Amino acid sequence: MEGALKLASPPVTSFETLGLHPLILRAVREVGYTEPTPIQSAAIPHLLAGTDIIGIAQTGTGKTAAFTLPMLNRLTDHTPERRSTRALILAPTRELVIQIQENIVAYARHLPLRVATVIGGVSESPQIDALRQGADIIIATPGRLLDLMARRHGDFSGLKFLVLDEADRMLDMGFLPAIRDILRSLPVQRQTLLFSATLPREIEVLTRQIQRTPKTIQIGRRANPAETVTQRIYEIPRHLKLNLLAHLLQDQKLSTVLVFSRTKHGADRVAKKLDQIGIRTATIHANRSQNQRQRALSDFKSGDVRVLVATDIAARGIDVEGISHVVNFDFPPHCEDYVHRIGRTGRAQSTGDAFSFATPEDKEAVWALERFIGRSIPRGKADGFNYSAPDMTGAPQRPQRPGSGAAPTRPSPPRNNPGRPQNRFKSPVSRRR
Ligand code: AMP
Repeated sequence: MEGALKLASPPVTSFETLGLHPLILRAVREVGYTEPTPIQSAAIPHLLAGTDIIGIAQTGTGKTAAFTLPMLNRLTDHTPERRSTRALILAPTRELVIQIQENIVAYARHLPLRVATVIGGVSESPQIDALRQGADIIIATPGRLLDLMARRHGDFSGLKFLVLDEADRMLDMGFLPAIRDILRSLPVQRQTLLFSATLPREIEVLTRQIQRTPKTIQIGRRANPAETVTQRIYEIPRHLKLNLLAHLLQDQKLSTVLVFSRTKHGADRVAKKLDQIGIRTATIHANRSQNQRQRALSDFKSGDVRVLVATDIAARGIDVEGISHVVNFDFPPHCEDYVHRIGRTGRAQSTGDAFSFATPEDKEAVWALERFIGRSIPRGKADGFNYSAPDMTGAPQRPQRPGSGAAPTRPSPPRNNPGRPQNRFKSPVSRRR
């Protein structure tokens, strides 16, 4: 990969000096951004110059504006000869697609550009209509877009700009074949941007195939969770996790809380328990319809419910201002998930807390995570919580290995997962989704 650009402390600059169009600058001021974030000041000049970019940055860094602002600029600079889509953004989840669309609509409020989304789980006819009318910018999940393209919807013959957002997540979700199929129908002469929190080998291979001498822009340490987030681990037996969550929510008066569950059923269980004790809770996971998800998000955003329980995949793209706490009810099975999860709080300039519950079975995952982020996470004890309450759930007790506590004591070598090429950024803990 050419021209790696690693910025510990990028140059301080203003939006005005980045060379953006006055109508875009006006919109940026109106949405309240006063100065560019590090990834914006690093990426925008290259993108305006037409360079391909690999952006290694976690969510919460302002990466969406980093690619959408120069994209809008370039679309504004060139008047199209015909009605073809000129910018295509592929993202892993419907929520992220909608989030990107909302950002683009805000930044393009003074520009005569048409924006459309193409996502699964909702009726396709409005999407087909939008494609027929011609959209300058399409934001899509790969599956539905491929489906529509296979039926000859959309005109991408004039495409100038392709963005793959959260590429590692699209890989995880099995979208790579669909992405390759889509790419086969796109013009080769274009600017290609790829954003990813990590760079697994498959993604590196993809970048070599689809980009031209890309510049790599990496903001901060690859795995560094946002500095504005205070992290704490609560070591807790499995059967007490629900009680501890209820205790923290009641005792510490946590206000806007995003709770992560590893599974859909787990998420429902948590919500049921909290509802039982009078804490209104919304859930968002793959078994919920698009309408139910939107409703859960808007109730959470408006403050009607103060707790949102989500699975990792469903939570992608959740962008809610002022999440005060992220609770990892289930310890993240995967180090990158931890970074993504806690990046939901402490967004942009505000601060937040991330609490992670770790059972004795999570010992190895805790150790792997601390190695991944390069520091140990302080342990917390909840005041007034009964840690010795017996297990009344009737669940079979797991035999504990001698000395297995949640606190990691010694490093153990990573285990290889035979199903996947080895990736040094992956936790040694196997995935369970
Ligand atoms: P992202 O990493 O793109 O998900 O953005 C995270 C959050 O930061 C979003 O809520 C953006 O609206 C916000 N944001 C992006 N750029 C800026 C900026 N320059 N100043 C303040 N907030 C920003």
